[in-house]
Amino acid sequence: MNTLLSLYIFTTGLILGSFYHVVGIRLPVRTPFLTGRSQCPHCQTKLQPIDLIPLFSYLLTKGACRHCCNHISLSYPLVEALTGVLFLFSYIVYGWNPTFFGACLLISLSIMVTVSDLRYMLIPDRLLIWFAALFIIYRFVYPLHPWYSSVSGAFISLLLIAFIIILSKGGMGAGDMKLLGVLGILLGTHHVLVTFFIAVFIGTVTSLLMVSLKRSGRKDPVPFGPSIVSAAVIVYFYGENLVVLYLSSF
Ligand SMILES: [Zn+2]
Repeated sequence: MNTLLSLYIFTTGLILGSFYHVVGIRLPVRTPFLTGRSQCPHCQTKLQPIDLIPLFSYLLTKGACRHCCNHISLSYPLVEALTGVLFLFSYIVYGWNPTFFGACLLISLSIMVTVSDLRYMLIPDRLLIWFAALFIIYRFVYPLHPWYSSVSGAFISLLLIAFIIILSKGGMGAGDMKLLGVLGILLGTHHVLVTFFIAVFIGTVTSLLMVSLKRSGRKDPVPFGPSIVSAAVIVYFYGENLVVLYLSSF
């Protein structure tokens, strides 16, 4: 492990995290995210370069706008820090190799899905199409499992959640279905199925916690996307052990 490279990867994660936060918020409402400078959500003042340094700007201003002094959401520094830490973690686990780049792709999708689904209860199709293409290219260049495992992983995921949507009459959404399908390309059949079961577990625990903390009612819909991507990241890193555990439980 190279210290300078670690620092570089962490910083890249912070900067990309800041960008992913913008994409997650702007893409579902069709605001251009490459043009159009960020502005304060309260006073609409265009942000200056000093306000746009990931993490540091927030710490420097103690989480308040420099113009109107209104509080700025903690989600900005949290998303930036989480992306930086997860990129660094991937590098520590895999080193500078193709598996590391696959992990970074998955983390990138996960961050944008989480921001968008928590805010709008929506996973943008355009995001899923981009990442479907990226995962296909990645798996083509770096075939970790046979190609048909990606194909069947995608289709089984789509069918599985379509079945649940019909049975539960809307317990899960079409966005969740497409998301798991796209993840199937990267993870392959076995791993995407394990992802699904872990996601249901995370989703159930989260819902129970929210109800018990009275943050939501029993009937309130809870976005399932963050559970799916969290499970996918866990399976990407620890998949082999989990598949063995899962198969041995029968
Ligand atoms: Zn302001």
